[in-house]
Amino acid sequence: MSTDANASGKLPRPVFDEDHCKGCGRCVAACPKKVLRMKTTLNKRGVNPAEYVGEGCIGCAICFYNCPEPYAIEVHTAK
Ligand code: SF4
Ligand code: SF4
Repeated sequence: MSTDANASGKLPRPVFDEDHCKGCGRCVAACPKKVLRMKTTLNKRGVNPAEYVGEGCIGCAICFYNCPEPYAIEVHTAK
């Protein structure tokens, strides 16, 4: 499930399913716009998951392609 913070906002944007995140930080390091960060709270895996800061995404999907977890990130873009 997406978090409330992911449920609204301008496109493009990354949408995280945080309980699939293993907290590796690869998406945060890879994002060219530096608009991702690690949360200070823990997910069900007991790790700090990644989140979107809420603005600045350009929809490049580099975060998606760098994530080792198939269901942790989607990038939503305008049709
Ligand atoms: S789609 Fe690109 S700009 Fe947007 S969060 Fe992912 S890596 Fe960053
Ligand atoms: S790359 Fe994937 S698993 Fe790693 S912190 Fe980002 S969302 Fe989580």
